[in-house]
Parts: sequence; structure tokens; C-alpha cells
Amino acid sequence: NNKEKVCILGSGNWGTTAARILANNVKSLDNIDKTINMYVYEELIDGKKLTEIINTQHENVKYLPGFKIPENVIAVPDVVEAVKDANLIVIVMPHQFVKSVLETIKPHIIPSKTKVLSLIKGVVITPKGTVTVSNLIKENLGIHDVSVLSGANIANEIADEQFCESTIGYQVEESAKLWQLLFETPNFRLNCINDVIGVELCGALKNVVAIAAGFVDGLKLGNNSKAAIIRIGLVEMRKIAPYFSDSVKGITFLESCGVADLITTCYGGRNRKLAELFVTTGKSMQELEKIHLNGQKLQGYLTAQEVYEFMVERGIVDEFPLFTKIYKICYEGENVASIFCDLKVSLL
Ligand code: NAD
Ligand code: 13P
Repeated sequence: NNKEKVCILGSGNWGTTAARILANNVKSLDNIDKTINMYVYEELIDGKKLTEIINTQHENVKYLPGFKIPENVIAVPDVVEAVKDANLIVIVMPHQFVKSVLETIKPHIIPSKTKVLSLIKGVVITPKGTVTVSNLIKENLGIHDVSVLSGANIANEIADEQFCESTIGYQVEESAKLWQLLFETPNFRLNCINDVIGVELCGALKNVVAIAAGFVDGLKLGNNSKAAIIRIGLVEMRKIAPYFSDSVKGITFLESCGVADLITTCYGGRNRKLAELFVTTGKSMQELEKIHLNGQKLQGYLTAQEVYEFMVERGIVDEFPLFTKIYKICYEGENVASIFCDLKVSLL
């Protein structure tokens, strides 16, 4: 069997949605193995293993209830078993778990024969500083060919087959074309651009801005105030990106991964919703995540802290008043009503 083989690591709300798309698309691709292993972080649902439920009922009853998963997706509780024989690895889990998963699979992959696509939105703190997920993957696994996929992609709407766009950021163009074949559908339209770091940074940073959008909603402010947060947030996203890599392109911010994802997340995302509740209930983000997300994970308030650490590392805190304010409200008890104080931001 010399066919290429895909696996997907992660089975949350977006992970399961992505697995459904992949599994349908591989059915018509001759040179790709038809079976897709999906790594599922095992847990019990009413005494039954989630992997067993997925493999018998073909539904992820916890993270994507109500949508059938094609039978060529096999839920696997052991991540090493899941990557076995796969040369195309899709990684899609909350960013706080990616480091440990990479360490576990490292001895079991052949870097020169493996391509990775990251669907993760977040940045990661390492002993060498704060890095993007693609750089973490490259460094930890020694894989050169890493692409990313990110966009205005609220998972349930995609599962429901509502039209949306997304962006593939690539370094190796041929790989982008392959990932596009694997993921594109008439309702999930992909643009490929040669800017891995730009695409993934947009996805990570918009989750921080979404926290501020939720604060605005919690304060019962209106559309103009939310638009101001979105604009200032976009400016700070654009401004901080070159500190991660001077290869980031301005045009990337006009792709689905940029302004479109920022808008959808600031109106419809989990980060926005829980930040609103943070203001109206006075509960902590961790508490709200437990109460309202049924196992799903928030990325934005963690990313706010990781980005703040990055800004401290670089000595650039003063250049980013919105990111700084969000961090201080989340972690230092600063009054949320001060959100618009000191927010004069220009790109210059
Ligand atoms: P999720 O928040 O729905 O689910 C959490 C997942 O984490 C579950 O699969 C759970 O089993 C797993 N998990 C819990 N503890 C774990 C551990 N210790 N180790 C490994 N896994 C563990 O996940 P999601 O929505 O699929 O999000 C994954 C990534 O995709 C995130 O970076 C997110 O920002 C991004 N994303 C999400 C959406 C969306 O609409 N949900 C859309 C686009 C991108
Ligand atoms: P939330 O994690 O805030 O729900 O955002 C989902 C997303 O990334 C939409 O593109």
C-alpha cells in the first residue's frame, strides 16, 4: 500500500467538524487511504468511552452532537496508534495541549516524509520564548513542511454546511494544493497564501480581541463601541506580527483568516460569549468555561497572557494598549469599565 495516509489529532468541536470534511473528501481521492484515524482524548460519557460511542454511533455526542461522522473515521484513544503509517498529519486541539502531544508522537514519525497542517489558534510559551504553533511543530518534530489553515470558521456553522471561506498558509506550494484538495468543499472555500506565520498569528490574536468584544457586550455598549474594538484590535494584530516574523504579509489580514475571522469571533464566538459573562456575572474565565462550555476550551484569555509575556520579552508593552488592557482586566483585576481608556492606536 503506497497510498498517502491522513490522520487527525484532536476531536473537539472544530476537530470533529474538520474530520467530517476530510473523511468525505478522501472518498473521491484515488491516491489517499480511505481510513482516517482521529485521535480522541478519551473520556467517559455516562460510563461509556467516547471513542466507543464515536465508533459505533458515528457521532461525537459531546463535542459535535447532532452531526453524523462518516464511517471511515476511526476514533483512536492512543495518539501514537493514531499517527501510525500516516504521512499527512492534521493537528487540531486547544493550543494548551499541543506541546505534550508533539512530544508523545515525536519518536513515531519520519520527519522527511511527513507533512503537517495545523488548525490550531494560539501561541505557545517555550523556554526559548513565545512561538507560533507552526514553529513549535517544526522545532519539536523536525518537520519542514508545515502548513496552517485558519479562517472565519465557527465549527457548528460549517458542520451545518453554511458557506464560508478559510485560508491555507503554506511554505511548500505543492502541499497547500494537497491540503486544499483534502479540505475544500462547495461551502468551504479555501484561498492559499505563502504566509504561514501571518495566517496562524491572525487566528491566535483575534481570540484576544474577541475577549474585549465580549467585555463591550457585557458593559451593554453598542455596535459603534464593538467596531472600535475590532478596528483597534486589527491594528494591534497587524502591528505585533512583524515582532514574530518579518515575513508576515499585510495582505494576509484581508484574507478570511484576518478581518473575517476577527468579525465572526467578535460576534459569534465562545471567547466573546464568556467574556460577556465575565463582566455580567463576576465569575472567573475558568469557572465560566466549566459551567458553559461542556468540555470545550477557551483560547483567548490564555493567549492574552501568552501575548503579554511575548510583549514583555520584547519590551514592547507600551505599543499595544488594547492587548495590555485585556491582559490587565483578565489577570490583574483592572476595572473592565476602563477598557477604552488610553486606547489611542496608530499603525505608525
Ligand atoms: P474544543 O474546545 O471543542 O474541545 C476541547 C478538546 O480538547 C476536546 O476534544 C477534549 O477532548 C480535548 N482535551 C481535553 N483535555 C485534553 C488534554 N489534556 N489533552 C488533549 N486534548 C484534551 O476544541 P476545538 O473547537 O476543536 O478547538 C481546537 C482548536 O481549533 C483551537 O485552537 C480552536 O481555537 C480552533 N478552532 C475552533 C473553532 C470552533 O468553532 N470550535 C473554529 C476554528 C478553530
Ligand atoms: P471561538 O473559539 O471564540 O468560538 O472562535 C471560533 C473561531 O475560531 C471561529 O473562526
